[in-house]
Amino acid sequence: MAADIFEIIFLAGLFVATIIRSYYGSKFRRKDIAHTQKEHPMVLVGMALWGIALILPFITIFSSWLTAADYNIPLPLSIAGTIIFTASLWLLWRSHADLEINFSPSLLIRNNHVLVSSGVYKRIRHPMYLSFWLWALGQALLIPNWIAGPPGLVAFYLIYRFRIEQEEQQLVHYIGDQYREYQKVTGRLFPKNLK
Ligand code: SAH
Repeated sequence: MAADIFEIIFLAGLFVATIIRSYYGSKFRRKDIAHTQKEHPMVLVGMALWGIALILPFITIFSSWLTAADYNIPLPLSIAGTIIFTASLWLLWRSHADLEINFSPSLLIRNNHVLVSSGVYKRIRHPMYLSFWLWALGQALLIPNWIAGPPGLVAFYLIYRFRIEQEEQQLVHYIGDQYREYQKVTGRLFPKNLK
């Protein structure tokens, strides 16, 4: 099966995301750790599903095994998917860049952990998670197949739902009032309407 333009956009995006994640991941060091927290089991399930959801598009693009699960998508929605996907990549990059050494793929607080509240963290507390939501939505619009497109939404829902409280509690515990104040003026994924 020949890949269409939107499938190629997905593959190119996956390539760019891999470069961003590998670059900032290579700077990540497991040292100066003040506290780590065990992940909720559902987060681990979500992560495994997320990994599978990233691989499945290769099957729809390069084979015809899953064609029975294809759905049709109108062109404007595919174009919207491209825009959403591009926004996701931009946010993925900016959130890693703004977090700097405070970034961690797990729930980890460093000895010298500082609150990041500028850049893409100025109005929202979880721009990186927003980038994953946008990715999952973009994937469902770029890969119109029930098995390889939307499951990323389910996978990320599990990660988000079972991680967010723990992550914020850990930050409140270690950063304290500064994080509580930050919570008052920001939203999790969307800016707070401050009047
Ligand atoms: N939830 C954030 C960050 C994900 S990376 C986002 O979606 O953008 C996870 C790590 O970032 C955790 O170790 C957490 O303690 C740390 N972290 C999250 N928000 C932070 C902030 N505003 N300042 C500093 N560290 C933060």
